[in-house]
Amino acid sequence: MEAILKRYFGYSHFRAYQKEIIQKILDGRDCLVVMATGSGKSICYQIPPLVKGKTAVVISPLLSLMQDQVMSLKQRGIKADYLGSTQTNRSVSTDAEKGSLDILYMTPEKAYSLPPSFWTNLLNAGICLLAVDEAHCISEWGHNFRKEYKQLHVLRDVLVNIPFVALTATATEKVQSDIIGSLMMRDPYIVIGSFDRQNLFYGVKSCNRTTSFLEELVTEVSNYNANKSSTIIYCTTVKDTEQICDLLTNAGIRTGIYHGQMGSKAREESHRSFIRDEIHVMVATIAFGMGIDKPDVRCVIHYGCPKSLESYYQESGRCGRDGLPSICWLYYSRSDFAKADFYCSEAQNETQRKAIMQSFMAAQKYCFLPTCRRKFILGYFGEKSISDCGNCDNCKGTRKEKDLSRESVLLLSCIKSCGGRWGLNMPIDVLRGSRSRKILDNNYEELPLHGLGKDHPANWWKALGDLLIANDFLKENLRNEYRSVSVSLKGLQFLSTANTVHETPLVLAITP
Ligand code: ADP
Ligand code: ZN
Repeated sequence: MEAILKRYFGYSHFRAYQKEIIQKILDGRDCLVVMATGSGKSICYQIPPLVKGKTAVVISPLLSLMQDQVMSLKQRGIKADYLGSTQTNRSVSTDAEKGSLDILYMTPEKAYSLPPSFWTNLLNAGICLLAVDEAHCISEWGHNFRKEYKQLHVLRDVLVNIPFVALTATATEKVQSDIIGSLMMRDPYIVIGSFDRQNLFYGVKSCNRTTSFLEELVTEVSNYNANKSSTIIYCTTVKDTEQICDLLTNAGIRTGIYHGQMGSKAREESHRSFIRDEIHVMVATIAFGMGIDKPDVRCVIHYGCPKSLESYYQESGRCGRDGLPSICWLYYSRSDFAKADFYCSEAQNETQRKAIMQSFMAAQKYCFLPTCRRKFILGYFGEKSISDCGNCDNCKGTRKEKDLSRESVLLLSCIKSCGGRWGLNMPIDVLRGSRSRKILDNNYEELPLHGLGKDHPANWWKALGDLLIANDFLKENLRNEYRSVSVSLKGLQFLSTANTVHETPLVLAITP
């Protein structure tokens, strides 16, 4: 195994887990591998075929991903090829059937459409494993569910006694058990590596999408760019990518753009210029995604809150693959959080809708988080890290603290008085003294709190509401399409002491 690692990949040592995973696969055992991006999962399914002289079949979701992998494997002298869903390349499938390939990539659609004779021939020629890359796509609880992934178990009946290897960088416990169930894995060997990427700094800032903010962004990116290191800026819309790309280009920064509305040729060119350091900043939508293997990206900025914490972790994780210190910033504006319904509209059933909503709310919570960000992310993925990381904005204490007791009492009491069945808008309107139809219909103008919060604008109160949610004084409840907030147990406790002695001020960390 070591000799093969050295000969084909040029590395002298296996990284953590790699050797034991390869050994289990060689023993014929099913494996579930959950390890961070960049930790070296691919080698785990690339080495067994070289050891055994048999073919490995790899299911991969995207053509571009397969092409990249095949290209780099061929350069290493490994016989690799791929079968796309539409492509009918006789020579590739003939080669494969004869067993003359080491590694054969294909999309799930392709796997279903191949005739049984293909698999029989391949079995006779020798196949040593079936790998399912990006395996989180199997689960409706994953952040990238693909229905074509759900049928993969049909290959089980064809490939009896061939080990199945599922690999992913992000899987909560729920997703892990979905993967195992869906692929009908038998007593799988499970490796959950740490998700922690210690070299990455995590930070969040709120922004208001104004010109002055964009100027600030340009200055910041110019600073990062001073030593010509690579940065990716993820935007939530094509329009944003264009705007920011123009601004940076005008500021003299070599900037490229990448989004789904560009032709495939233009996208490839843009990607290539980035890999070759001809451009330093890539402004992109999430179409610039899986399969980007540039080890020295120093900074990933998200302009707009991503649709899930999983996708945030995966996208931000594209920096610092070489292990050197790198930075992940997330800029959110409150309007980002109105997109939940839009994301939910992609759902095909109730389970999916709930899953989308939950992970979006986790991303939102991440934005407002007052405590260690790494601890929160790792905890979300089921990893209970012991101490604060010291390498995020909250640990480094770049946030200010403020006593917001008085205002918190007002908002919490008002939410309680309104029965905890509204979103934030209604109680805030009450505090601000509105006499709208809805308020009069509910007799809320008679509440003693009515009008007591006039001294702050509605947005200020909303921001406080978000902080109180993030600090668990308020809880968000999901009912059908509708999100309401109510006072949590912690909030009620705070209210009861606040009304009597008011001895513990409510100090909250706020973004400068
Ligand atoms: P993942 O699929 O987990 O995101 P990759 O398989 O793409 O990670 O590997 C990330 C990088 O680490 C690649 O550049 C790969 O060549 C390199 N790598 C993998 N295994 C080793 C090893 N044992 N020693 C050194 N580098 C390795
Ligand atoms: Zn921290």
